Amino acid sequence: MPSPLVIPIFIPHSGCPHQCAFCNQNAITRETESLPDSARMAAVIRQYLKYKGTRSRVELGFFGGNFLGLDARHIKRLMANAQPFLDSGVIQGIRFSTRPDTVTEKTLDLVRSYPVCLVELGAQSMNDQVLDRVNRGHTSDDTFRAMGLLEKKGLGAGVQVMVGLPGDTRAGMVRTADILAGLKPQTARIYPVLVLKKTLLAQWYKHGKYQPLALDQAVEISADMFRIFTREGVAVIRMGLQTSGAHDPTVIAGPGHPAFGHLVLSHLLYRQAVKKIQGIADDRTQRKVRLCVHPRVASRLRGDKNSNLRRLKAVFPHLDFEIQTDPAMGSDQLDVKCPA
Ligand code: SF4
Repeated sequence: MPSPLVIPIFIPHSGCPHQCAFCNQNAITRETESLPDSARMAAVIRQYLKYKGTRSRVELGFFGGNFLGLDARHIKRLMANAQPFLDSGVIQGIRFSTRPDTVTEKTLDLVRSYPVCLVELGAQSMNDQVLDRVNRGHTSDDTFRAMGLLEKKGLGAGVQVMVGLPGDTRAGMVRTADILAGLKPQTARIYPVLVLKKTLLAQWYKHGKYQPLALDQAVEISADMFRIFTREGVAVIRMGLQTSGAHDPTVIAGPGHPAFGHLVLSHLLYRQAVKKIQGIADDRTQRKVRLCVHPRVASRLRGDKNSNLRRLKAVFPHLDFEIQTDPAMGSDQLDVKCPA
């Protein structure tokens, strides 16, 4: 089924009990007004509907804040703003991001009468020491409990995780993905930690107390996490923050890249290629190897500025690589052939 059009309504930092050490939603969303009124919401909805194309489903997503942490009257007001579009059938579902500790019987009751299809939990890590260090103010137990409650209520759950939080390790991040994937959310978002202006993390970075991951480290760990989630049937719906441009003035440091998700998928193809080549070409004779993929995947296989081909050549110097495309192949398929 094609993915729905999700119209984002940003509510930066609204409902947040405090500012988490790494977070500056105003920088990420580029919006400073916290709660949009009905006219603003209607304008955003109409604007995005132009991009609906052939998609049959449209959802409204409240992002950038802590939705269920909002005052009840604000939740009701936002939902009331969406109501005309729900009544007319223009929008069929609502999703929002919220902190795990705000998911309670009481808060879910507030949204019970609306077609909520996905609650995205900002889990970030399942390591309590890491959560404590970045002032999250909740623990992994809150995430376990929230996931259980959403399941009990029959509500779809998504998780958001961060790569490179202070005090975390590659093994720890893999463990976070393992635990969360085991809870069977519908979706996951993987965000590398960037040092954003006006955050506690920026101060730590300035004083040498935090060192962000290098881009290649963040890509490798995100690839590990992506594999874990997808292996369990969890759809990874985003990798990388929108504000990842190399020259983004709000980003002080960190593994930002405008096409971070593409880099991760490209790295996964590189790993797949290495494995397959090791299986067929171990006699060290100089020869040509054809890497066959669907045409849509060719640039991903090639890598950013041919980086995958260069790395393959470095690992297998006796082989000469060429890419062949075949529209009959699946988009996740990679074949390795040695022409005679
Ligand atoms: S990470 Fe989430 S809860 Fe923390 S300040 Fe940002 S929006 Fe609020």
